[in-house]
Amino acid sequence: MYQYGRVTPDIKSKLLEIVGSEGILEDEEELSKHSHDESLMPPHLPEVVVRPSSSEEVSKIMRLAYEKRIPVTPQGSRTGLSGGANPLYGGIAMTLEGMNRILEIDEENLMAVVEPGVLIMDLHQETEKRGLLYPPDPGQESGTIGGNISTNAGGVRGMKYGVTRDYVNGLEAVLPSGEFISLGGKAMKSSTGYELLDLIIGSEGTLAVVTKATLKLVPKPQHTALAYIPFNDVKGAAKAVSEIVRRRVMPYALEYVEQHGVLTAERYLGRSLPDHSHPAYLIVGVEGNREEEVERDLETVGEICMEGGGVEVYVADTQTRQRQLWEARKCLFDAYKAFWEIDEVDVCVPRSRIPDYIEGVKRIMETYGVLISNIGHAGDGNVHSIIVRGELERDRWLQLLERVTERLIELGISLGGTVSGEHGIGYTKKKYLPYKVGRVQVELMKAIKRAFDPHNILNPGKVFDL
Ligand SMILES: Cc1cc2nc3c(=O)[nH]c(=O)nc-3n(C[C@H](O)[C@H](O)[C@H](O)COP(=O)(O)OP(=O)(O)OC[C@H]3O[C@@H](n4cnc5c(N)ncnc54)[C@H](O)[C@@H]3O)c2cc1C
Repeated sequence: MYQYGRVTPDIKSKLLEIVGSEGILEDEEELSKHSHDESLMPPHLPEVVVRPSSSEEVSKIMRLAYEKRIPVTPQGSRTGLSGGANPLYGGIAMTLEGMNRILEIDEENLMAVVEPGVLIMDLHQETEKRGLLYPPDPGQESGTIGGNISTNAGGVRGMKYGVTRDYVNGLEAVLPSGEFISLGGKAMKSSTGYELLDLIIGSEGTLAVVTKATLKLVPKPQHTALAYIPFNDVKGAAKAVSEIVRRRVMPYALEYVEQHGVLTAERYLGRSLPDHSHPAYLIVGVEGNREEEVERDLETVGEICMEGGGVEVYVADTQTRQRQLWEARKCLFDAYKAFWEIDEVDVCVPRSRIPDYIEGVKRIMETYGVLISNIGHAGDGNVHSIIVRGELERDRWLQLLERVTERLIELGISLGGTVSGEHGIGYTKKKYLPYKVGRVQVELMKAIKRAFDPHNILNPGKVFDL
């Protein structure tokens, strides 16, 4: 067990010297705002919130914390879904929201250089204005790039383009000791020793604080189309996912939503979708630089779906209709939260095993009498199972939740999947990490953590216990 120092008045005045009065937040409202993310993990109040505005300030804060053994929890927008940003041991919550400048969009190298607090939606807007695309597209567009990098966020374009890791070409980061490391850059290739860049991506704020990122961009395809396809049964919809790929169509998005999700989105948005009376739906997005190519892909998708139990293919052919459909898909988590208490499991299975996963979820639902609604990035096998409390008494639901979560994760792993596809281990999924990676790998991870952070001050108690 590590002994931690407290944020005394003396420490506060040192922090004030570093970040100035604008950079210290300590009223009750701010402490409470920075005590939790969007997961079910109970809030943990930090002793103080600091809001640095430069890498140098981050480094000075870390030096002070290292010397005094004060725990520091890096935070972006706190939209995480696994408790990664909750200051478990109090101490300093370091929000990177103030470092939010897009420093450069380099059209010759197709790279963007950004500070960690840049919101994903702002980067999308800036790049798309120039006919470029930063492909990672997590549903929560107010998340920060620093948070996305630290959780290796995925999103709706994962199937065709991959995840955040595939677009990080360089990082500047501050170690727990306050020292800077500069990893990668704009060069496209590197075979230069161990790839520490990859170690920082997805490390959930436990190894270093990301202070700058160099991100890859791609040309933005000129034409897109989106189809909304109801299915007569959930299995048909799940099977169509791998059939689309088998027939050599590579949609940029292939989302699966069950009827409960569609009805919940309609209720939340106060408007109807083209259909809501079937058990399952696919939302399929195709894109290309030639209109004929997009139309051909859409036709093939339509044929496959109709052969596999699809009822109708609704095509959103204008930008406005496409935006409305995406709005319905992306609001789902907020919609569920608006009406019920929920938790979620985001296992990722090989795409071809999605039908087995969906069937397994139904069995778990029947065994435990708990409502589970599957929604997700089916194209890359990442199904989010939303576990809904509904009318269950809270204590009973919490008991069942633990068992149901465990069964879902076991199911995912038994099908060749992972514990978390994109939300991370954080605090809430710590128990399940060894289920997938085993003791030897957890010990290796702990040894890496000790090498970066010998006093265990950076986001302690996350991913695993030291
Ligand atoms: C409605 C909704 C939809 C979502 N959809 C998706 C989705 O489609 N795909 C997906 O992947 N996720 C999704 N998420 C989860 C969440 O948005 C992502 O995990 C996102 O990456 C978190 O970013 P953030 O800025 O909010 O980070 P936070 O929640 O603040 O932090 C997340 C983790 O990163 C660490 N961290 C943050 N900034 C830094 C930094 N600069 N340096 C070091 N560590 C840092 C924190 O310590 C924490 O461990 C969704 C969440 C919601 C609420």
